[in-house]
Amino acid sequence: MTHSGQPKAFDLFIIGGGINGCGIARDASGRGMSVALAEMDDLASATSSASTKLFHGGLRYLEYFEFRLVREALVEREVLLKAMPHISWPMRFVLPYHADMRFESDTPTSRLLSMIMPWMKGRRPAWLIRLGLFLYDTLGGRKILPGTATLDLTTSPEGAPLQSRFAKAYEYSDCWIEDSRLVVLNARDAEARGARIMTRTRVVSAQCENGLWRIETQNTETGKTATHHARMLVNAGGPWVGDIIQTNMRLNSREGVRLVRGSHIVTRKLYDHDKCYFFQGTDGRIIFAIPYETDFTLIGTTDAEHTDPSQKPVCTPQEQSYLLNFANQYFNQQLGDDDVVWSYSGVRPLYDDGASSATAATRDYTLKVDTSTGAPVLNIFGGKITTYRRLAESALDQIGEHLPLAKGPWTAGATLPGGDFAVDGFDALVAKLRFDFAFLDDVWARRLVRAYGTQAADVLGDAKTAADLGQDFGATLCESEVRWLIANEYAQTATDIVWRRTKLGLRLTPEQISQLDAWLEHNRHALSRAAE
Ligand SMILES: Cc1cc2nc3c(=O)[nH]c(=O)nc-3n(C[C@H](O)[C@H](O)[C@H](O)COP(=O)(O)OP(=O)(O)OC[C@H]3O[C@@H](n4cnc5c(N)ncnc54)[C@H](O)[C@@H]3O)c2cc1C
Repeated sequence: MTHSGQPKAFDLFIIGGGINGCGIARDASGRGMSVALAEMDDLASATSSASTKLFHGGLRYLEYFEFRLVREALVEREVLLKAMPHISWPMRFVLPYHADMRFESDTPTSRLLSMIMPWMKGRRPAWLIRLGLFLYDTLGGRKILPGTATLDLTTSPEGAPLQSRFAKAYEYSDCWIEDSRLVVLNARDAEARGARIMTRTRVVSAQCENGLWRIETQNTETGKTATHHARMLVNAGGPWVGDIIQTNMRLNSREGVRLVRGSHIVTRKLYDHDKCYFFQGTDGRIIFAIPYETDFTLIGTTDAEHTDPSQKPVCTPQEQSYLLNFANQYFNQQLGDDDVVWSYSGVRPLYDDGASSATAATRDYTLKVDTSTGAPVLNIFGGKITTYRRLAESALDQIGEHLPLAKGPWTAGATLPGGDFAVDGFDALVAKLRFDFAFLDDVWARRLVRAYGTQAADVLGDAKTAADLGQDFGATLCESEVRWLIANEYAQTATDIVWRRTKLGLRLTPEQISQLDAWLEHNRHALSRAAE
């Protein structure tokens, strides 16, 4: 309690440890607010680890005339790249052209074209793709990323894995992002600026009492409950945003969320170069094939309605066949179910704008403040990984109307942990790490610098040999890295470590993952004491 008899309260209490919750926590704590964040599972355990992992403008959104979103996202790519050159890097996208490519029938562009050029019968003409790419090149104010080029697929290496009917392609730039690491780095930076980050902590209820929010939480591991107070609440529950409004806060709100599942499959590497493919289907949809984790190819995504957020999304056999058939229309190598080594699925929490199809629903974000209970709550709908920093700035604009902010926007130009090096400095950092830790091979050093950037050396401590790193769990994962992840990055289980902090799950056997789990269980008490 304070002197006034009021309970001690945070300025901001954030529900949800996905990219939007963690991005807002970082921005707000950097502006001097006292912030708490509760995540019911692991950070990025829901949508924010299941994306296609692109910082992109979204070429296809141009057909929906989403110019605001596309421009904001395009400009943002280079801002983000500079803030995190370890977990994000430029990529070239190859878009093979074929006369059979069709529009989705309800895009504004396809409706306009079928009115003025009915003989096109839903085809996506080459001049329109060129126009889209021209806009993509110019809207975003590029300084680092190269612009569009045309490729002759009959002679270039990018044509080699493709069927011979594809003779021509366009090539453009976007960026890769390690989505789940982005979330944890935002949480770490928020904590370094004073935020309290609570994982495995479910918000059970939030009620307004005397102008303050009273929030009840439950630890999902121990069952322990706690009460917190806050002046303002942020509902960044992603797919659960509607549930939290209706069940936890019991607000009388008409805002809705549309849940659209997207699945990806992973195969062994399908081709040798480092570019991505942007494939257009005869159904008007597009999918990507992307070089993934050095030895693999990532293919996705799908758009399927998903009604219940509590139903864990999985890539269904139908979605897997759809993705395989789609890729088989382009690659020489014909893929079957046996080629799929892993799949994952996530649910897009889109703002319900009444669009007829899941593909057409807007990918833009909508922020709504509700003050009907007496204390303000900001509900977040939609958004992209790419626009998370801008979404946080917009959220802070709205929060600033209810609570004082010590300073204005600050995150553009501020690096995330480990990201304080030049955009083209990755190779030099790898060379330095190998010099300082002579026992590392190139694969191991690259993995560590990709994950931890300038902090990779901290993970290795004062080790002189690989044996100094403690137990070897396989695929270059050693005890010192596991301990570091628990102490610094809120990791608790083998799944947190091998699928979210790293992607070593692709290389470790199920037995090795079980051994890691057993080790974590055995050392649980000592590790949690050390992490406190
Ligand atoms: C298939 C797919 C591909 C995508 N590809 C891209 C892409 O390439 N580029 C891009 O920019 N964007 C992409 N996106 C969009 C992007 O991933 C999402 O917009 C973003 O991850 C949403 O983040 P979020 O924080 O709102 O939600 P989430 O990441 O889902 O976070 C919400 C969190 O709230 C927690 N929570 C819910 N209820 C409670 C409660 N009661 N108490 C405590 N915690 C709670 C959940 O556990 C969850 O972790 C893609 C999305 C999908 C599904």
